[in-house]
Amino acid sequence: MKKITKDIGFATKSIHVGNSPDKINGSIAPAIYATSTYVQEAPAKHLGFEYTRTHNPTRSRLEECLNSLEGGKGCVVTSSGMSAMSLVLHSLPEGAKVLCGDDVYGGTYRQFTTIFHNKLDVQFIETSNTKATIAKINEFKPDLIWIETPTNPLLKVSDISAIATASKKIKSHLLVDSTFMTPYFQKPLSLGADTVLHSMTKYINGHSDALGGAIISNNSKFLEKIRTLQNSLGPCLSPFDSWVILRGLKTLEIRMEKHQENAKKIASFLESHKGVKKVIYPGLKSHSGHRVMKKNTTGFGGMISFYLKGGMKESNRFLKKLNIFSLAESLGGVESLVEQPATMTHASIPKKVRESIGIEDSLIRLSVGIENVQDLISDLDQAIKFSTKS
Ligand SMILES: *Cc1c(COP(=O)(O)O)cnc(C)c1O
Repeated sequence: MKKITKDIGFATKSIHVGNSPDKINGSIAPAIYATSTYVQEAPAKHLGFEYTRTHNPTRSRLEECLNSLEGGKGCVVTSSGMSAMSLVLHSLPEGAKVLCGDDVYGGTYRQFTTIFHNKLDVQFIETSNTKATIAKINEFKPDLIWIETPTNPLLKVSDISAIATASKKIKSHLLVDSTFMTPYFQKPLSLGADTVLHSMTKYINGHSDALGGAIISNNSKFLEKIRTLQNSLGPCLSPFDSWVILRGLKTLEIRMEKHQENAKKIASFLESHKGVKKVIYPGLKSHSGHRVMKKNTTGFGGMISFYLKGGMKESNRFLKKLNIFSLAESLGGVESLVEQPATMTHASIPKKVRESIGIEDSLIRLSVGIENVQDLISDLDQAIKFSTKS
């Protein structure tokens, strides 16, 4: 592409922004600048690059591409989603007040409660309850509001635009962990959020072969702070992983479309299955967050949770019998994954608390891949039938 204009579509951006041909030799694919340092012509006279912890051309390409997809003022990519989070929390002053969703990613909850608990005043609330959240924002006046939507594994939906309006009134900073949606389905900045955070490990890379995190913001001062912190603390993304993710990003649109197409078919299949008690998928009309999601996003994604009939025994029989779905944590790759939240991703939550919020032994979470959907349905069907056979 010779000239990039503002009005180009999503897939054109993801393929071309940050992907201009190499100025030296015309290579259409970006080079992996595997270098730690850069030669200087004279002391402090250089081409803008001094050390890879601070700058790397391959990493800058990824930041440029992702920033254009989210529509921010800048992007910082990091070594993982969790290190991106730690930079955000390090940027807050001692005693800062944070209001966080009560159903966030386990690692997010762990960082708030075991690493930053002495520095920050953190309170948790069910952010899918808009009224209660807005009341709490007005009463607590948090410096930072941290929401994740939809959540994991119960796929609860928060109303980003309503929370953003309340956040703006008290001049708070609203951050949305948008990992499950990607900028293809959800653009928090355009809904009024200040910052978006991603675990690029999931859909953004999409091939389960790299870890990465990203912070995209509309607040330039905040981004400057994050850059300084990254340079000081060091959790930067390697040139190779930057390249891998930049490559993955090119197919984000067609992957997300296919993840969703498969997920919709699988959700309706599961909903009509005799061996299934309940299906949780925001694309189903039966889902409590369906309407809010329809208002704020352009799609529902590829994650499904459902309750099998029975308990731990049936659940384990089902998992053992699956052939195409692999039993693994994580999500968002081209291959379908399955997991049991009660014993895997959410095992650290005490059983009583876990069950009170709906994470029962029979709860199964699917990360629907982009394989042939009929193959996936047949695989689930035979495993569900087997789970209830005595
Ligand atoms: C995986 C995940 C994270 C953490 O990202 P890592 O890349 O594993 O460090 C944060 N938030 C959500 C919603 C996630 O799914």
